Amino acid sequence: MSKHTEPAEIARETLKILGERGLTPTPEHYTSVYQELGGVKETAAATSSPNWSALIRDLLRQLEMTHKGVTLTRKKEGLEVVLSRFASKPDVMSEKLNGLIRSWGSGAAAPDLTSATSTETTAPTPAAAPVAPARTTTAASPAGKSDGNDLLKQLRELLAQSLENSLSSHPELSDDIQRLVIVVRTSDDPAKINDLTKQLRQFWLKLELRGGDKVKIQEGLLRLLRLLVENVSELVADDEWMQGQVSALQTIIAQPMDKHAIADAERNLRDAIIKQSSLKQSLTDAKTTLKSLMTTFIDRLGNLTESTGEYHQKIAGYSQQISKADNLTLLSHILEDVMHDTRVIQASALRSHEELPDTKKQADEAEARIKALEQELMQVSELVREDQLTGALNRRGLDETLDRELKRADRNRASLCVALLDIDNFKKLNDSLGHQAGDRALTHLTQVIKDTLRPTDAVGRYGGEEFVIVLPDTDLAAGVEALQRLQRDLTKKIFLHNNERILVTFSAGVALRGENEEQEDLLGRADKAMYQAKQAGKNRVVMAPQI
Ligand code: GH3
Ligand code: MG
Ligand code: MG
Repeated sequence: MSKHTEPAEIARETLKILGERGLTPTPEHYTSVYQELGGVKETAAATSSPNWSALIRDLLRQLEMTHKGVTLTRKKEGLEVVLSRFASKPDVMSEKLNGLIRSWGSGAAAPDLTSATSTETTAPTPAAAPVAPARTTTAASPAGKSDGNDLLKQLRELLAQSLENSLSSHPELSDDIQRLVIVVRTSDDPAKINDLTKQLRQFWLKLELRGGDKVKIQEGLLRLLRLLVENVSELVADDEWMQGQVSALQTIIAQPMDKHAIADAERNLRDAIIKQSSLKQSLTDAKTTLKSLMTTFIDRLGNLTESTGEYHQKIAGYSQQISKADNLTLLSHILEDVMHDTRVIQASALRSHEELPDTKKQADEAEARIKALEQELMQVSELVREDQLTGALNRRGLDETLDRELKRADRNRASLCVALLDIDNFKKLNDSLGHQAGDRALTHLTQVIKDTLRPTDAVGRYGGEEFVIVLPDTDLAAGVEALQRLQRDLTKKIFLHNNERILVTFSAGVALRGENEEQEDLLGRADKAMYQAKQAGKNRVVMAPQI
């Protein structure tokens, strides 16, 4: 620190240092710094140097007090003279200032200088302002007018500069300081000085609080940092969250420090850590529970559902994925897949279970129906071997009988005759007697045939009014004879219609089966013979030529 020689310069520098060091501008601080700057030892200064703070305080008070016959202007003039004349001689100046003050007399309500000084100098806080409350000056004295005015001006300027210097160390109080500096420079009357006093007191209080804040901010930041470091293990699991916290911290640091902001940040961070920790635990629990639930679910499902191999394969895959999954999102996705596949298979299983009784019932019903149908079919099958109207064999029955009898004949090397007969003029009968009479005539003929032939013989209805008679073990002559006997019988067993005797005649052809002759060929030859009978005049039997 450079030494200053001019008292005014030292005084100005003193105020500046007080501001820079954040020291309350008490008389003790002022004296101490002044002596330090002036190169005067503290011990020596305590005994030989004037008590400037007491002197200035006394000077200010006396300026404001009423002295009989001495106006404020005179006081200020006196001060100006002393200050300018003894500016380079502080020791002399103090004596001269004391002399000047005493020259103003005792003054009205003037406080005791010694006791006031004693009280003020021991005041520990800036609450004890260095400037006493002002009182309105009513008396004026021409003596010392310029000196006092100048001193006040200088003091105000020093104070203003000191405040301006403190701007660098308290930029956040820039507005307050600049406002105060203006007030200091314009406080040229006691009323304004009174206001200034109050404002200064508030400012110092604020400044002290700011100093306290700094410590608290530092402590807060340290706590915050410690909290982050201690909980890094908790936080690293969530990088995004961690980045968010670091970013928040950077924002706090970038802005003017504020103990409340730090406290908020700390509280928020602590809460977040607690929440994060709790959430992580919950997540772990949830994951474990989810894993357990899913495993149990899958196990049970596996036992419950007999499903396709594909589903079981899928589930086995899911089980592996679940055991490896360490993240809730992944688990959720696996669960979704499992649920999807399961829903499909469950729906299918449920459908099967629900459908099973119905299906069984339907199957039972179907089975019963099939049995009934089979029975019916069998009956129908039996029936279809016969002509429904006449009871003779139908074409099918006739075919089967012929086939059977031909085989038998082949086995037995027996002869077999087939006769084909066609009712004569049947259309006429129908036309004259009615269709139903025709039907009954057909039935009557069939019955006569059955009655006439041997039990081993068979009769089948070949067409409308055409019949085939199968005569096993019958040669051609016997066959022709059998048909002729039938003709006779028909005349005996006459068809009656409305008690009217109706003679029904037929024309027939008889063919002896040739060796290995096919059914169709045999019937064809019989039919040809029958046609010849028709051609020959009807109601006769024609023998088919033997082959
Ligand atoms: P032909 O002496 O030349 O055999 O003459 P036809 O009248 O007997 O022969 P045609 O073939 O001309 O007529 C046969 C008639 O037999 C015609 C048809 O209405 C009748 N008919 C065929 N099947 C049945 C039946 O099941 N019931 C009745 N009522 N009539 C039948
Ligand atoms: Mg016919
Ligand atoms: Mg006919």
